[in-house]
Parts: sequence; structure tokens; C-alpha cells
Amino acid sequence: MALVTPRPAIQPLVRYTSQVKGKREGQVIRLSVNEGALGPSPLATAALDRIKPGLHRYPPIDLDHLTDAIAAHHGIPDARRIIVGCGSDELLATLCQAYVDPGDEVIVTQYAFVLFTHLTLMSGGVPVKADDQGYTASVDNILASVSARTKMVFLANPNNPTGTYLSRAEVQRLRDGLPETVLLVLDAAYAEYVERNDYSAGAAMVDAFENVVMLRTYSKFYGMAGLRLGWAYCPEDIANTLASVKPPYGVNLGAVEAGIATLEDHDFHALSLRHNVDMIAWFGAQMTALGLTVEPTVANFVMLRFPATAGRDAAAARVFLDQRNILVRALADYGLPEHVRISMGTTEEMQTTVAAIREFMQSTVAADG
Ligand SMILES: *Cc1c(COP(=O)(O)O)cnc(C)c1O
Repeated sequence: MALVTPRPAIQPLVRYTSQVKGKREGQVIRLSVNEGALGPSPLATAALDRIKPGLHRYPPIDLDHLTDAIAAHHGIPDARRIIVGCGSDELLATLCQAYVDPGDEVIVTQYAFVLFTHLTLMSGGVPVKADDQGYTASVDNILASVSARTKMVFLANPNNPTGTYLSRAEVQRLRDGLPETVLLVLDAAYAEYVERNDYSAGAAMVDAFENVVMLRTYSKFYGMAGLRLGWAYCPEDIANTLASVKPPYGVNLGAVEAGIATLEDHDFHALSLRHNVDMIAWFGAQMTALGLTVEPTVANFVMLRFPATAGRDAAAARVFLDQRNILVRALADYGLPEHVRISMGTTEEMQTTVAAIREFMQSTVAADG
């Protein structure tokens, strides 16, 4: 037993391991973490070139030029209530540190993003799972899980890994059914990809209520996962709380400048969106033709269901693809052992992936006779 023991609350947490270990970065087709398909915007990389001479300086403490740009781009009325972080991961962690006391309950959905549970446990909080209906979050089940100890509800909308979403009306019904003392965290990491009239990421609800926070990220649609930049739009009290507990230099200079520049690249935004719509449709059709079940998605990834037969199931598919340097996310740890999650890559990457999955389906059929 170690002499210096970690807090009991974090002992169940396992160390995050990378699938890429032992593989050379340039050789893999990485469809396992939902990064933007088309790489960064050229305006973002140009911004990184411009900051090189000032790298010995701390980034500015006052980030108004970034938060003003975010507010203008996203139609947010009050830039002062935007808090930026080192990825939305940091903001999720800060929310837990600031609001979850040991013993507090935090409601997550059945197939919630793993980090929600992880961060809740880090704070000594108690994750409470609300069953989905099919693969979609259930407002009724979330509301039925509320107790006197509930402090927070995490809702990824759209959800990762399922790719499903709740409509504006359903999120409103959720908010209205919660006690005012419970914080509703809307994690809209994939909002930019959603093309549905009844969807909203939640900014208007943040303006209307004291207990709703919306989180956004540059890691997916904006293709900046490596720079780590996310932001939270908050009611005033919560913005002040987060700002007072966060470390002052949490966002690096490259993230700040590239974060502003990338918002100006409207061609990149249009191209990224069109590419995703096309890829989701094309890839889905190819998979359906192979007899696989493609779960509906509004994001930049899709859940594929493999047959439960040994040798051609999801676990075997993941290993088969891994051996061909195509990384996808198996979902057994999410309680979805028959599914893998595949992010949309470039057209060429997806063609290679379709060919590999076809080979997998055919080779296993042949092996069985
Ligand atoms: C990818 C993802 C994020 C983004 O995290 P960053 O720290 O901003 O990279 C947040 N929430 C969900 C549900 C995600 O899938």
C-alpha cells in the first residue's frame, strides 16, 4: 500500500490510457475522439505564426478581445458572462470544484460523457444515473431522480457517444421541473453541427434563468483540440464564482489568438458543416448496405451497431480496425458493448474505413462458412 494515499473519493478512478500508444501519429486514421475532420482553419494557424515573438510573455489576464469575438459570433448578449477555460473539460472541473460538496448528488444520463461521472467523483459527489429512453436522454427520468441532495444535472446536448439530442422544448421542460437550487449544465460541444429547427444550445435559457450554464468548445467543429479552448456562458453569479476560483493563466496565448481568428473564417465553417452532412449521409448509407445498424446522429460521429455474434461483434471490429491503424471508440465502458463510435474524418479517411469495415464483415462471414 502506498504511504501517501489519494483521497478515498478518487480511488475508483482509473488512469486514462491512450489508444495511440505504440503507433506513430502520422500513420493512423484517428476517428476515436470526434476531432474536426478538416484540420484547423488557415486563419488559426496564421494567428499562431504571429504570436511566436511574444511566447516568453504570460497571456493577457484580460481576455475581452476573445470573449467579445465569441459573443459577436454566437449572438451572445453579454460577453462579460463568458468564462473561457483550457478546454471545456477545465470548465466542467471548475464547476464541480465550485459547486459540488462531498455527498452532493449529480444527475447524469444513462450514456453520459464519462468525464461527468469522473469529475463528480473527484469532488466527492455522488453520480446518479437517469435511464435514457432508447439512446436519448429522458427528461422524465432525470426529474424523477431529483432528491433533496441534488446539486447539479449534466446534460450533453447533443450527447456523446449516442449522437442524439433533446429539443429546445424538452430542455425547457427539464429546467422548469428542477428546483431553482439545482444547476443545469448544458454541454453543447457539438452544437455547431446540429441542423435541426427545434434545437438550441441554450444561451437564451442562460439569459432567462439563474441556474443554467452552457458550455462550448473549440475542440470539435473549430478543429482546435490541440490548443485547448472552451467557454462557458453563465448567469452573473456563476460567472463571478468561476472567474474567482480559476487559475489566472488557464488559457494559453495560442488558444486566445487562434480562437479569435478561426471565428472569422466563414468559408471554413461552411465547408466543415457541408463536409459533415455529406460524410454522415454517405458513411451511413455504406454501413447500412453492409447490414450494420446506424443509430441516428446530429453530431460529427455516429454509433454503429455490430451483430452480437463472436468474431464479428463490436469488440472484434475495433481490434480489426486497430490493426489497420484505424482508431475507433468501442463503447463497452459506456454500457454499449454492441456499438462503436466513429468520428467523421476526411473523405479519403472515410473511404479507407468503409473498405476496412467491408473487409471485416466479409472476412468474418467467410470464416464462419
Ligand atoms: C469533446 C467533448 C468536450 C470537449 O472538451 P474540451 O475539453 O473542450 O476539448 C466536452 N463535452 C463533450 C460531451 C465532448 O464530447
